Amino acid sequence: MDGNKDRADLLGGKGANLAEMTRMGLPVPPGFTISTEACREYLRTGAIPAGLLDEVEDHLRAVQLKLGKTFGDQDDPLLLSVRSGARFSMPGMMETILDIGLNDRSVEGLARQSRDERFAWDSYRRLIQMFGRTVFDVPAEAFEAETAEDPRDLVMAYQKVFEAQTGRVFPQAPHEQLFLAIGAVFRSWNAERAVLYRRQERIPQDLGTAVNVMAMVFGNRGDDSGTGVAFTRDPATGRRGSYGDYLRNAQGEDVVAGIRNTVPLHELGSIDPTCYAQLLSIMQRLEQHYRDLCDIEFTIENGKLWMLQTRVGKRTPAAAFVIAAQLVEEGVITLDEALRRVTGEQLAQLMFPSFDETAAPAPLTVGVPASPGAAVGKVVFDSAAAVAADEPVILVRRETNPDDLPGMIAAQGILTARGGKTSHAAVVARGMGKTCVCGAEEIRIGTDALTIGDTIVYAGEVISIDGTSGRVYPGPVPVRPSEVVRFFEGQLSAHGDPLLAAVQRLMIHASHVARLGVHANADTGADAVRARRFGATGIGLCRTEHMFLGDRRILVERLILAENDTEREAALAALLPLQRADFEELFAAMDGLPVTIRLIDPPLHEFLPPLDELTAKVARAEALGEDAGHAGVLLTAVRRMHEANPMLGLRGVRLGLVVPGLFSMQVRAVAEAAAARVAAGGDPRPEIMVPLVGTVQELEIVRTEATSVLAAVPGAPPIRIGTMIEVPRAALTAGQIAGVAEFFSFGTNDLTQMTWGFSRDDVEGAFFGRYLELGVFAASPFETIDRDGVGELVRMAVERGRAARPELTVGVCGEHGGDPASVRFFHDAGLDYVSCSPYRVPIARLEAGRAAV
Ligand code: ADP
Ligand code: MG
Ligand code: MG
Repeated sequence: MDGNKDRADLLGGKGANLAEMTRMGLPVPPGFTISTEACREYLRTGAIPAGLLDEVEDHLRAVQLKLGKTFGDQDDPLLLSVRSGARFSMPGMMETILDIGLNDRSVEGLARQSRDERFAWDSYRRLIQMFGRTVFDVPAEAFEAETAEDPRDLVMAYQKVFEAQTGRVFPQAPHEQLFLAIGAVFRSWNAERAVLYRRQERIPQDLGTAVNVMAMVFGNRGDDSGTGVAFTRDPATGRRGSYGDYLRNAQGEDVVAGIRNTVPLHELGSIDPTCYAQLLSIMQRLEQHYRDLCDIEFTIENGKLWMLQTRVGKRTPAAAFVIAAQLVEEGVITLDEALRRVTGEQLAQLMFPSFDETAAPAPLTVGVPASPGAAVGKVVFDSAAAVAADEPVILVRRETNPDDLPGMIAAQGILTARGGKTSHAAVVARGMGKTCVCGAEEIRIGTDALTIGDTIVYAGEVISIDGTSGRVYPGPVPVRPSEVVRFFEGQLSAHGDPLLAAVQRLMIHASHVARLGVHANADTGADAVRARRFGATGIGLCRTEHMFLGDRRILVERLILAENDTEREAALAALLPLQRADFEELFAAMDGLPVTIRLIDPPLHEFLPPLDELTAKVARAEALGEDAGHAGVLLTAVRRMHEANPMLGLRGVRLGLVVPGLFSMQVRAVAEAAAARVAAGGDPRPEIMVPLVGTVQELEIVRTEATSVLAAVPGAPPIRIGTMIEVPRAALTAGQIAGVAEFFSFGTNDLTQMTWGFSRDDVEGAFFGRYLELGVFAASPFETIDRDGVGELVRMAVERGRAARPELTVGVCGEHGGDPASVRFFHDAGLDYVSCSPYRVPIARLEAGRAAV
């Protein structure tokens, strides 16, 4: 085995690591690796590349020489395994064929040489089965139907099945077996499940797999043989120590198939103390070498240990943090390196509430974990029932479609019987941050009940669904708040808790190295307090319209219905003190840190009752011969203000220019609140942000007006005025706009909608699932910033803006501010900060640190 661990693109992960273990002098059966390049050529042309045949023969000779055995020998045959192994681990997705080289004659030789009839014929039987399935697509059931006791008889039966299914006899020439096997492993790159897995894991489809050809070693040669898997630390918790399973007298696939019961690894210590000690010392060496948790496949043949595979092992999010921090403590890696080894996604997983597993009954079924979280509620089978319910519900559907949206919003969680991670239910649930399990195929859904096997669950009965594991439980399972969240909120100490201590240590380092600041989107004092606890160093977006909801909606209504200046001014005067009080609360919570206040953004009719509701009311009144009164007035206003496409209508700065006094009232409220805080000894740092600007003229008009309002409030601190960049035209003319704006904040939600020309509310459920399936998107552009399109506008605007005004502050306040991949992009684009919802703040902080190391 030539090569090393850093050549995985050509050798595949398995091949590169086998080569590495060989170089380290570990006991690896001799063999060689055929490159991914050969696979790509095979898949292009459908034929094994010309030079490859000779190369394989050359390498095979070397293996034979090393072992003193010959491939195809009738008395003491060398047998081979042909194993897939791609650049990225795709566990169990592709094919491996064992025991290649056996035929009707050499099986007798193997039986004589090993003095073990049963073993030899059992190996031959395995070969026919695996080969038939993998090379000729013989269905597994065809073999499984045969049940002969004597392995010799079973081989005969399997050969008959093979002939019946393929129309040819089982190939007797070992070299033919070998090359057919190599071709089949190449082809397994394009197996349906492999393609699906890559799509889900975002692994490119054109890499191809390497093929590892190795001498067989046998774990199925009696009680002093066996096979196992091992981890150098616990992949679930990260705890130190060796973990794994061992199966006596068995070949590898028996362990994975779970056919027989394995014993915990440490029992190998009493079964075979010598091999166990050797294994432990090899595991230690591998950890030192890879400087990380390794997982291992090994086989013991008649008391001799062989290493068959190793790789840096997969682990749970909790284990990722714990192991990274442990390795720092052990002096194996630096803090920077530790930061690279954990991700914002993992931290997000740790921040979801979870079920108390110890209190959970056996699951009813397991589906695809599509959107994390733990949800408990009564089963409902349609959207209307979910909307009508006044208790928490789980919406259960065969699959969802855009008509189910209201129900999905109303439900605690969503469960479907059909569809994978890119189904409508999955995409929409993730977008809403709602728990979702999809594709639970065992579920049969009726009109008022669902069945899973013999279990019936009626509408109205409670179930619990776990969007992180895909499990579906009967009844309510107790939900535990995330310990990590409780730690961030200051309710738990990290002392003595390995996970919390690890999170703490890595978060501190992330903040230390980050260049990108993290602010929060918050509209209330309570949100601001939480955001600050979570480590936000400012508010990047306060949506002032949120202060106009509830009881205050009526005041906005009065403003909208005002028929003259006096009425309008009275309405504004009533709103002023309320806004001022809200701002004071925010400034107090964020004392000493910037608070960016966005002037009112949505179209005004959002503050009026819906059109159909009013129409019905007025119609009722008319039918009764009554005066519709206020409802009639409102209906006229709503009709007058109706917009075919409100997203592109009278909103943002456009409103400010059309409704006299609205923006001025808000600016005055900001200034007066700040002055009050200063008078109270505080250090308020407000900034005023104008939404939806498309041209510098709009901003100039607002700025002139705002400046004169500010000048008239005594005692206010200096207040900067800036703009959102969320209309493509603003990005394109950022140079001009920066002449007037003191800061930019990218509103990437609107910028994404307007750049792509689709409205978020209409498209996510309608066709995003299909687009993800087709690979048009790798991820929803509303979740992860579209670097090539929207991202290019961001880069351009930063550049043009800073060219015009070098001290320009630039941030982002769309959903993307809390998305790990997007945070990295904003770091690279040179932004000063990202702003996101309070719960995403720790994730953004971690990613900001990771982007900097
Ligand atoms: P996967 O990538 O799906 O894990 P592998 O190539 O690792 O597939 O093969 C599956 C199993 O086959 C291994 O875990 C191992 O137990 C067994 N195996 C592979 N090669 C050999 C070999 N040369 N000798 C003995 N067993 C082998
Ligand atoms: Mg394996
Ligand atoms: Mg916007």
